[in-house]
Amino acid sequence: MEQNKDINQFELPFAKRIYLKNSNSTLLKKLLIFSPFLFLIFSVTSLRLIRNIEIGSFGNINFQAQKNRDDRILGHLPYAEIPKEKLVLIEPNIQVHIDMRDSLLEMRDEAKKNGIYLVFLSGYRSINLQNEIFYSLKSFRNQVAVERARVSAPPGYSEHSTGFAIDIGDATQRETDFETEFENTDAFKWLIKNAAKFHFKLSFTKDNKFIDYEPWHWRYEGSIEALKVFESANRKL
Ligand SMILES: [Zn+2]
Repeated sequence: MEQNKDINQFELPFAKRIYLKNSNSTLLKKLLIFSPFLFLIFSVTSLRLIRNIEIGSFGNINFQAQKNRDDRILGHLPYAEIPKEKLVLIEPNIQVHIDMRDSLLEMRDEAKKNGIYLVFLSGYRSINLQNEIFYSLKSFRNQVAVERARVSAPPGYSEHSTGFAIDIGDATQRETDFETEFENTDAFKWLIKNAAKFHFKLSFTKDNKFIDYEPWHWRYEGSIEALKVFESANRKL
């Protein structure tokens, strides 16, 4: 009977219930019923407080971890587009970063003295042009993005957009332009021996697991700005 009475009380609206005269035992029962809720509120408040303290103390570490995470897409690192005022024209259709011009032209002259004729195939490429190259060639060749990324960078992820990259061919063997066979030319052999003297480095070597070997693609690392641009590429080999 006592139990039924209690149940009836709870079926009354709350506002009416508070006017009911409760015995001590009813109050105790109510406290027991509400205790899990009180415990829950207490737990949630405590957890939120602890979490706030952790964020406050380790916020900097979390931020650093986020900065250091690998942000490659299909194996390519992101690169910003060079400001237009830093570009110079070295051939009718070839622009490069002004910091790289002298070294690049000196390298070509030095090669010529050794009977090697370097030809510049592609320098700066805008993100828009890279977009066209990546997507139009991809669909033309019926390749999915992962396959295409092995031979071409997605827009916003090309070293060419920095102005510090140059594709080089052998003027006496133009059939090897942009081909792996370029590695068998005298021009390539000369570059392997001499390019570092002019601060040029092969970007995509044979041991790169994401991107195909590109013996024609070289990047300049002869200025602080260039070193900063390629810092990630050199760190995460
Ligand atoms: Zn290239």
